[in-house]
Amino acid sequence: MGRLSVGLLALFTIYSLNAQSVKEPLLEPIKKEDLKRDVYQLADNHFLGREAGTINEFKGAVWLVEKMREAGMQPAGDDGTFYQFFDLYFRRAMDSSSVEIGSKKLKMWEDFIPASFYPTRLNNKEIVYVGTSSPKEMEQMDLKGKVVAIQASLDGIEQNISLFHKRFYYLIEHRYREILVKKNVAAVMFIANDLFEDNWSAMVHEMKRGRNGIEGIRDKIVPEVPNVWVKRENLDLIRNKSNSFTCDLGVVLYKYPSLNLIGKIEGTDPKLKNEYVLFSAHHDHVGVREVVDGDSIINGADDNASMCATVLAIARSFKQQPAKRSALFVMHGAEEMSLLGSRWHARHPVVPKESIVCVLNGDLIGRNAIDSAALLGAWGRHRTSDELVEAALEANDEGPKFIIDKSWDDPNHPEFFFFRSDHAPYARVGIPVLFYTSLLHDEYHTPKDKPERMNYDKLYKMTDWIYRTGWKVANMPERPKYLENVNLN
Ligand SMILES: [Zn+2]
Repeated sequence: MGRLSVGLLALFTIYSLNAQSVKEPLLEPIKKEDLKRDVYQLADNHFLGREAGTINEFKGAVWLVEKMREAGMQPAGDDGTFYQFFDLYFRRAMDSSSVEIGSKKLKMWEDFIPASFYPTRLNNKEIVYVGTSSPKEMEQMDLKGKVVAIQASLDGIEQNISLFHKRFYYLIEHRYREILVKKNVAAVMFIANDLFEDNWSAMVHEMKRGRNGIEGIRDKIVPEVPNVWVKRENLDLIRNKSNSFTCDLGVVLYKYPSLNLIGKIEGTDPKLKNEYVLFSAHHDHVGVREVVDGDSIINGADDNASMCATVLAIARSFKQQPAKRSALFVMHGAEEMSLLGSRWHARHPVVPKESIVCVLNGDLIGRNAIDSAALLGAWGRHRTSDELVEAALEANDEGPKFIIDKSWDDPNHPEFFFFRSDHAPYARVGIPVLFYTSLLHDEYHTPKDKPERMNYDKLYKMTDWIYRTGWKVANMPERPKYLENVNLN
């Protein structure tokens, strides 16, 4: 026998051994009825929308931990529990804040809404009304040390995005930010446009929540251009040159706890069990907000009780048939506050960061057409691993056979959806990630995101897909590699 033949034989032996030793995925423990029951319970009105920074997030979390235990997970959080606690840092406007234009005292939340979070006192400052001038037109104006009154307008702003009626104010402010800083203005006063006035109470809900962070991220009071939104009825008052602007904007900084829920099921391979496939969901949602059709509880059935139920179902399968690698199950808290729970765990993982071979995250996975779904982090410049994407595509072929919508993975997609769920912070610390989703819908972040409006056949198919991917990766001889040219900007 020549050397080449010996080599081939050895290769053949390794492949066949390997093929024998990887078991088929085990779908039986994953049941549609369980997925449905768990979504109904977690998205029940009882938990009042599970908002981070309220006790309702804790109530939902404690319920979920019992389910994690029942599913067969071992605790992997702090002190031998399923909990990983962290502090949220809240900066909020004080209700005693005041604004006066001329001799009129404006009422907080009723006549004006503060939109900056740095304590500010100004006395009799000159007001310059610039109407709908663009930032470029403002270049020529003398604005230093003055209060600039801008008529809010949607000029130059992309309107075809989700939650536009809640996010547009931010886009308007963003458009002027640079010029206001450059001109060193004393403050800015945005005069509400139709959209803002129509959504005034939603805007109050939004701004009352202030700015939120965790240690190391937005945890300090830092200078900002003082900014208030005022009702349009004040326009004449503002344009009257004899009137000046006085304000006392108070800001309070305080901490409130939040929590990630973390369990694991150990792998069977003596070496590979020290590596983890991380299945990721978020358990919080956005709470109680303005009334829509007589209902103010935003239950978050699709967002994201759907993936919580899926993670539980996947754990039931791993419990019956563990893989070579271990499975780590993380239900993140405070996701709806710009991914604070996952940012925390990506910085403070409960297992060594290097031992996490990938993150399979799902968010909004039980709606829209039954035969299609999206996979993000697969085609755009934020693709993190070839082998991981390959595994997910194979899993789709072997399981649900979705038509995959690639358009949302385009880095130029106006929703920037890849950056809006819990896998993103892990991608930033060098861990391969994938984001599974059935995408947005009109009832996203509204009281209509209810359990009875979900499609449980779709949810089952998504669970099948995510489980199969996880099963493959958890048994691969080599872990997926993180690509060198990942671009997360
Ligand atoms: Zn979500």
